[in-house]
Amino acid sequence: MSTLELDSVSIAFGAVHAVEDLSLHLQPGEVYALLGPNGAGKTTTLNMILGFLRPDRGSITVAGADAAADPLGARARIGYLPETVMLHPSLSAIENLTYFALLAGRKIDAATARQLLSEAGLQPEAHERLAGNFSKGMRQKVGVAIALAKQAHLLLLDEPTSGLDASAANDLSNVIRAASERGIAVLMATHDLFRVKDVAHRLGILRAGRMVDERDAATLDPVALEQLYLQRLAS
Ligand code: ATP
Repeated sequence: MSTLELDSVSIAFGAVHAVEDLSLHLQPGEVYALLGPNGAGKTTTLNMILGFLRPDRGSITVAGADAAADPLGARARIGYLPETVMLHPSLSAIENLTYFALLAGRKIDAATARQLLSEAGLQPEAHERLAGNFSKGMRQKVGVAIALAKQAHLLLLDEPTSGLDASAANDLSNVIRAASERGIAVLMATHDLFRVKDVAHRLGILRAGRMVDERDAATLDPVALEQLYLQRLAS
């Protein structure tokens, strides 16, 4: 069974066909980058996978759960990192993780929380610090730890590297690779072609809601990827 299956998915907002006839299958451990300019339909796609929007046509399943019929079931299988991961500012990293894991139905002790935070790349000195002062990269690491605690099958990332410095972006790549090695499928919506080349196994280019190209990332170097991307947006 694929971890994520989108079959001929379409959704329109009035006259705007935000996503049109999109099919996408991700296997366990596969890292897929969804590329496209602003308005291409990336966030709408993620919102349909999360069950926040219902497709007009087509079907979406997350590790067997139908995102439209069983949005809670689909969400239970997903670790979702929006552009800014929201944490409780007055709770520490450990407390945030414990709290969000509990909301997801998993009771974890402090030792497990520490282990998951370390696996997600958060330095031990930050485990007890209040999340209110965390950088975007640190918030993401707590978000990944929450996904690990939930035993998510799929990690969804929306513009994960925007606003990250080079070191934090590199940390994120390592965390994505580690998630993939655990069998978690990863779907990232991004503009960051360099990062795509660094971590993705496959990539798709969306333009005006339609998939206009799909490739194995290994077949392209970063310059060729940029050329392909510009070409697909122009043609
Ligand atoms: P960005 O990189 O800016 O986030 P995107 O690829 O994520 O862009 P979407 O936000 O998915 O693009 O938008 C796709 C299209 O659907 C756009 O034309 C947008 O204006 C439209 N759209 C998205 N959500 C709504 C909504 N709730 N109501 C009306 N139109 C919408």
